[in-house]
Amino acid sequence: MSAFGEDYGEAFFGSDGMARLARWYADNAAHCPSVGADERIGAPILRPSKIVCVGLNYRAHAEETGGKLPPEPMLFMKASTALAGPYDDLPLPRGSKKLDWEVELALVIGKRARYVDKARWAEYVAGFALMNDYSEREHQKERGGQFTKGKSADGFAPLGPLLVTPDEVSHGSLALKLRVNGQLMQDGSSSDLIFDVPTLVSHISEFMTLLPGDVISTGTPAGVGSGRTPPVFLKPGDIVDYDAEILGAARQRILDAI
Ligand code: ZN
Repeated sequence: MSAFGEDYGEAFFGSDGMARLARWYADNAAHCPSVGADERIGAPILRPSKIVCVGLNYRAHAEETGGKLPPEPMLFMKASTALAGPYDDLPLPRGSKKLDWEVELALVIGKRARYVDKARWAEYVAGFALMNDYSEREHQKERGGQFTKGKSADGFAPLGPLLVTPDEVSHGSLALKLRVNGQLMQDGSSSDLIFDVPTLVSHISEFMTLLPGDVISTGTPAGVGSGRTPPVFLKPGDIVDYDAEILGAARQRILDAI
């Protein structure tokens, strides 16, 4: 698709890019350049204006964190510079002792959205993608309050490999799995979301304008490292791999701090 010649960002999604790309592909599929096995695969979108995340959106995860079930969606932001490719190595932030994983179903906004009627959510979504909402729990919880410090380091938002159009994704019953060094840690389904995708698109657009290309990540199921007894955190050399039906599989290797 690189031969299409546009970045997949706000200008692309905001100008009916997905339909234009589909038409282009129908005419050009036979001539698309192949991707070499040693080439880096980036995130399927350009750096967005924002990454909006939903906390405590699975009952069992809310319980493992010791938190109460939220009466309405609990939101936080992740710096857009955290965006990374699905197979990029992840160096620990300096001084990090509590790096944790969170496999999530994410979506990419396709059209400027403000006060979206829940029934019309699909008009505003370009597609779904797999995300890992990496979280440094000390930076998140013990360094001054608010989640931003613990959610925003470089590489903390690997997205992809695929962006899949909504017609192909059963967003309400999608299986999500994550392994650390081959050991199954998270095994969930978006059917357990407390606030589902239509509710989130509508609710978040009540508080901010969502621009084409923005990311919403819908929350993680149970099985994060900080919820275990004793807690488990990532260290250099660890391999995190995860997948979801139809959205594909991603994998990061944890490296020493730069
Ligand atoms: Zn999360």
